[in-house]
Amino acid sequence: CGIIGYTGDDGSTLDVLLTGLQGLEYRGYDSAGVALADGSLAVHKREGEVAALEEALPSGSVDGAAGLGHTRWSTHGPPSDANAHPHTDEDDQVAVVHNGIIENYQALRDDLAARGHSFESDTDTEVVPHLIEEALEDGADRETAFREAVARLEGSYAVAAVFQGSETVYAARHESPLVLGVGDDGHYLASDVPAFIEYTDRVIYLDDGEFATIAPGGVTVTDETGTVVETSVQTISWDP
Ligand code: GLU
Repeated sequence: CGIIGYTGDDGSTLDVLLTGLQGLEYRGYDSAGVALADGSLAVHKREGEVAALEEALPSGSVDGAAGLGHTRWSTHGPPSDANAHPHTDEDDQVAVVHNGIIENYQALRDDLAARGHSFESDTDTEVVPHLIEEALEDGADRETAFREAVARLEGSYAVAAVFQGSETVYAARHESPLVLGVGDDGHYLASDVPAFIEYTDRVIYLDDGEFATIAPGGVTVTDETGTVVETSVQTISWDP
């Protein structure tokens, strides 16, 4: 139901993600989780409130160079720790969050299972990290693997991924909102502006069919073919 992604030096990644999740609580949710990407990929997720997730975080949790947070409003599978996002592949190379419904997930899941993938959740979303894993194993780079996985999806989605060993966050949208936040020392993506408004008021709204990457060096928006889309940064006023 809500997504926050972040990379940069505006603040600790974990703090930015938790602030973002609190800013998205108004949308309603039943579970929450975060992924922190650095040399390793750490995922923490819980059924229940953001406060329950915070309590579950191990003390001295490693912070990440990039990260994702998610609040889930269940559509496929009941609220549970296992069904909470982010979802990962079997090698924990990639963590994925998703808002919306993947209509063709059962066919994708059956195909993946036939090729030996095992699943840890009942969600439609979990096919995405496994599709990315397969593309990586076939030799695709991270961005290509993300694009190839998204190209297989039918339905509605705002979807985002972070990878072990990378400071870039990858995202795509189709019939589910996603907005980028452009900061001085960090960049953001979210379902809605309240997730990052305390850090930046400069935003780029994504359109259906667009992909985005946020990296420490900047944000890039592309279309389905990979062609860079000219975007305009809007400065918005937002009364919290
Ligand atoms: N369909 C996904 C699930 O049930 C995402 C739900 C959402 O938008 O939060 O996990």
